[in-house]
Amino acid sequence: MTTSDFHKRLVDKYGADPDAEIDFPRGWRTLVETVFKMLHETDLEAALKVHQVKEKFGHLRIHLEYEGPHADRFFQYVAAAEDRALRICNRCGGPSHMRSDWPLKTTEVMCDTCLSAARVRDQLDRRRTEIVAAVRDWCAKSAAAGNWITTSDYALHRWRKDSEIKRESMNQAFRLVVSELDIMVTKNLKKQVSDFEVYQQLVDKIDIDEIIKRVS
Ligand SMILES: [Zn+2]
Repeated sequence: MTTSDFHKRLVDKYGADPDAEIDFPRGWRTLVETVFKMLHETDLEAALKVHQVKEKFGHLRIHLEYEGPHADRFFQYVAAAEDRALRICNRCGGPSHMRSDWPLKTTEVMCDTCLSAARVRDQLDRRRTEIVAAVRDWCAKSAAAGNWITTSDYALHRWRKDSEIKRESMNQAFRLVVSELDIMVTKNLKKQVSDFEVYQQLVDKIDIDEIIKRVS
């Protein structure tokens, strides 16, 4: 579901303002929907008074303008929801906390799993040439050795000078690219020794952007 699909859902189900600015990380959708549901169920017009839902400096911000009889309750509820967002991963909606670890550029509420995925994406994106060159080299070295070198052995050795976190992220990024090659060559069969050349020829056809999309 895209942000605009989600916005439309809020308009259709709870009478949200179609012109409101609704744009925030997807992990908070369930939480935001409970806010709209509560507003709408208490006062049919209330959801229309939400002008903006966004993320700012890692926090969820819900901008509500309301002067009706339920104002106190509504503002308390909105503030509580904004607080709750500080413990909900903005990617997957799982339990989490605020952090600013690499590769995050600002503070974000993110769980360990989503942070690991973000690291792999970051490496795939910024070190794509290096990863593709490594895959080509891995094919050549495997051919020279006469058998497939284990991908994690290769990756962990190749990036041994990186920090442990970066090395592990490169290992995962590398294996994702290799599994993409596996898919191109064959879906189910085990790698054959004679496939070295086939693999090497396919390296240029790898679409890193597609892989990044898949891990997003
Ligand atoms: Zn998560």
